[in-house]
Amino acid sequence: MKSLHVSGNRRKLLTGTASIGAASALVLALDACSTDTGGAAASETASTATEAPDFKSLETAEEIWDALLEGNRRWAAGESAHPGADAETRQALVEGQAPRAAVFTCVDSRVAPELVFDTGVGDIMVTRTAANTFDPLVSESVSYGPAALDAPLLVVLGHQKCGAVTAAHDALAAAEDGEEAEDHGYELPEIVASLTPAYEAAETESGDPVDAMISANVALTVQALKEHPNLAELVADGALTVVGAVYSLETGAVTEIEA
Ligand SMILES: [Zn+2]
Repeated sequence: MKSLHVSGNRRKLLTGTASIGAASALVLALDACSTDTGGAAASETASTATEAPDFKSLETAEEIWDALLEGNRRWAAGESAHPGADAETRQALVEGQAPRAAVFTCVDSRVAPELVFDTGVGDIMVTRTAANTFDPLVSESVSYGPAALDAPLLVVLGHQKCGAVTAAHDALAAAEDGEEAEDHGYELPEIVASLTPAYEAAETESGDPVDAMISANVALTVQALKEHPNLAELVADGALTVVGAVYSLETGAVTEIEA
């Protein structure tokens, strides 16, 4: 297991201060149909059983990230609670949504964020592209949850054995060696171009080069999103925290990386 930028300790998160504003009424409505008693009691329950906390009532980025990681532990342990997957929750969200986090990840069918974090409908706003590559159109979608809906947390989630990163790595390595890239019968020129900075950043790292590139791509994406015109001020004000993480297909675990 390579260790580029991977930290065993979760770094201290800034506390989000964004108001949930118009979402309050919705949260209150959802409280009424929640089985949790809320707050600390919900957190205690989540740490010892398969019940999920009342995700929609969480306010700070730190609380929300803790809840996502707790949901991920349930998923990795095969103890998912599958919260908010019922008609009541669907109905309660008809008039509006107030997702507490945005998640930007890969299209890989094995990396389904609502399952990986054991969240329900309305909890997280997900954008997915191959290897979470982005352009102006995609980054506007990624920024929508934090900028328009006051979600105080944005998670960039790479993953082990990413096919798009592997394909880009192989194409760039072949080009560097003056060789023809392997013919897969399809072309990903935009994705390869988008991943070239991660390839270059990973060249100085030890360990598996594709793993290093996956982590470098997450870190570069976090940095770029922090500077997005819709997000830079929120980040500067402490109203938005952007975290980078990598998902292991083998263990099901999400590990935060320094970004
Ligand atoms: Zn992927």
